[in-house]
Amino acid sequence: MKDDFELRQRMVSEQIERRGVRSLRVLAAMRAVQRHCFVLPDQQPYAYEDRPLPIGFGQTISQPYIVALMSELAELELQDTVLEIGTGSGYQAAVLALLARQVHSVERYPDLAERARCTLQEEKIGNVSVHVADGSLGWPEAAPYQAILVTAAAPAVPEPLQQQLAEGGRLIIPVGGRGGQELQSWRKQEGCMILGRVLGVAFVPLRGQYGWAEGEFI
Ligand code: SAH
Repeated sequence: MKDDFELRQRMVSEQIERRGVRSLRVLAAMRAVQRHCFVLPDQQPYAYEDRPLPIGFGQTISQPYIVALMSELAELELQDTVLEIGTGSGYQAAVLALLARQVHSVERYPDLAERARCTLQEEKIGNVSVHVADGSLGWPEAAPYQAILVTAAAPAVPEPLQQQLAEGGRLIIPVGGRGGQELQSWRKQEGCMILGRVLGVAFVPLRGQYGWAEGEFI
């Protein structure tokens, strides 16, 4: 896409820095990942706008600011292993891949997972493993994780995710229903979960065993 570099610089300064995201590593990752490559071809003209976009299957790629904010709240270091629930387009996973050693991302729709794998490969991002499974159960095979990001709205914090979080780890998750959710930032401290920070958000529902049942996202 023509001038995408300039559009990304503007996206970061106007939508993300201006709203208070300070981490230089997160800002650099947001400048580096080509968001337009993760959206559907007909959505590319809007790739750098301040809003979520449809990615098929009734799902959306999150607003850039929310991706940056969740990445900052994860407080990642280069040696960390991070789990994302809800791969969607693979964009959030790509941002996390620049901030951590290894990303595991779980998606329930095989077609979305496959498309995300292809995009990540085309973008030469090699440290993301995309798994097709019920992510409300986490991904125990690679636990514990220094950070877990849930990019779909949960009725409550799923128990398996608490268990798979490393001591000192951060769990970032929108909790609530269709009317709105709060973004919660939890930290595991001496085995206890401490609630950090709160902000109003609007995500699509988390399904699965610890998610919302079909028709129950209210
Ligand atoms: N992080 C994504 C956007 C996520 S949209 C991005 O950067 O594009 C939320 C995603 O969560 C959707 O793709 C949806 O299919 C997925 N999802 C919902 N419930 C899930 C579950 N139980 N397990 C895995 N994925 C789930």
